[in-house]
Amino acid sequence: MELTPSQRRTFERLIGPGERPFFSADVVSHLRDRIEEAVRAVELPEPLWLGKSSLNDLGRCAGLFDAIRAGERGPFSFTPRFAAGRLAHKAVELEVAGREDRDPHGLVEEAVDRLVDDEAFRGFWDGLDGLRRDETLMDAAKTLELFRSTMPPLRRMRRELAPSTEWHVRVELLGGAVVLSGTMDLVLGSGSAVEPGRATRLAIDLKTGRAWPEHAEDMRFYALLLALRFGVPPYRVATLYLESGEWQAEDVDQPVLDRAAERVIGAVRAAAASEAGRELELAPGPYCRWCPRTATCPVSAFPPERDAVHAEAVATID
Ligand code: SF4
Repeated sequence: MELTPSQRRTFERLIGPGERPFFSADVVSHLRDRIEEAVRAVELPEPLWLGKSSLNDLGRCAGLFDAIRAGERGPFSFTPRFAAGRLAHKAVELEVAGREDRDPHGLVEEAVDRLVDDEAFRGFWDGLDGLRRDETLMDAAKTLELFRSTMPPLRRMRRELAPSTEWHVRVELLGGAVVLSGTMDLVLGSGSAVEPGRATRLAIDLKTGRAWPEHAEDMRFYALLLALRFGVPPYRVATLYLESGEWQAEDVDQPVLDRAAERVIGAVRAAAASEAGRELELAPGPYCRWCPRTATCPVSAFPPERDAVHAEAVATID
């Protein structure tokens, strides 16, 4: 199949048609044992759900992790940027699943038709005037076009690459005491390997913004999730930045999986410590601005009075 230079680069360097690593069954069973041992050692009154966001919250501040886990954050609402991202992801899904070539605008309009089934999205969409809707559609169509220009044509290469989009994966540990879950934007490779233990999958997250260190941690978490769910880790995980066509990729090996497992164990212990009423280790930072406890936290980097002074200063300069 004819690929553009950009698609060929992605195919050869990111997907990588080379030999895949082998993982013995022990690798995954030891990971599961390690995490379950940590869960067994603590008291958790109810199932603890962990995903990439909650692990990142804990990486920032135990107070932030605890506040979000306790449900202190306000109800979720769509922003224009988030809605455009959701639309673009849905359009990518339709693009990969569809039977025929479609123009990007048609696809994003179809994506809207699907997404309005979701109440939160419909509320956001109904509140936009015609021009704002067109802008949001255009943003999503541009993202879809970037995806098409960067990735090989997945629909036409379905047999070779076995693509799955918006793949929701959940793992229950120790009878559901801890639940790990995540939705991967794109997974390539089927589960049927020529030999058991041979890695076949590549997990990719698609981003339109710039790279952040958390992105690598997110993908390590996905590597762990796939390993625990299917018994074999992916051979590689990557974040693909659509604006630049560059990626941040990591080949999956034991240290990558160990690091992800360690973060999960850290979250289990942090949740148990909070349940036991132990003092949380607070670590202020820029994220205090959106922390639900910022108004009451004694060390917040953005206590309400400072935010008010900041807002006043900005207003004066304006
Ligand atoms: S305000 Fe900042 S330091 Fe305090 S709990 Fe929230 S994130 Fe942590």
